[in-house]
Amino acid sequence: MPNFKQKIQSHFKFCPRCGKKFVFKKIHGRAELFCRNCQFIFWQNSKPTASCFLSKGRQVLLVKRRVKPLKGYWDAPGGFLDFHESAEKGLARELREELGIQIRQPRFLGIYLGEYFSDLPQSTFNLYFLIKNWFGQLKPADDISACAWFKLNELPKKIAFANNRRALRDLKKLLG
Ligand SMILES: [Zn+2]
Repeated sequence: MPNFKQKIQSHFKFCPRCGKKFVFKKIHGRAELFCRNCQFIFWQNSKPTASCFLSKGRQVLLVKRRVKPLKGYWDAPGGFLDFHESAEKGLARELREELGIQIRQPRFLGIYLGEYFSDLPQSTFNLYFLIKNWFGQLKPADDISACAWFKLNELPKKIAFANNRRALRDLKKLLG
């Protein structure tokens, strides 16, 4: 059974710089995809995401996924950061696109590593924020089938992604 990194590497056969076939090379004791022709090393860095919990009293807002992966599961609003985008900018963009609202003063909660499976598996580096300050009418976009407020001790069973579950557990401890 290959580990998660090997699973990701198995999707990439050719060097994106010169087109020759990759080989594995041990670098700092770890096997990396390497191109013998142009010396390119294809490092497997995690992809950054920004997510948040909007709060209203002791309740948090979750959104129900209408798309794969984990269609029908509850998720934290947010998503992958774009090229050269800060977490705060990316989060504001996602919340505008997903829910039609403006956010203010996101409070950083923590970082949770995750495994994301779409057409390609991805290692994710998930930054979470708590947002008490937001404006506008909640209008879920097409990729969301519903949004709802939940008490932290009455969360739904089907929560997407282990990183969401871990972040919610820590938020519950934090808010006491
Ligand atoms: Zn190459």
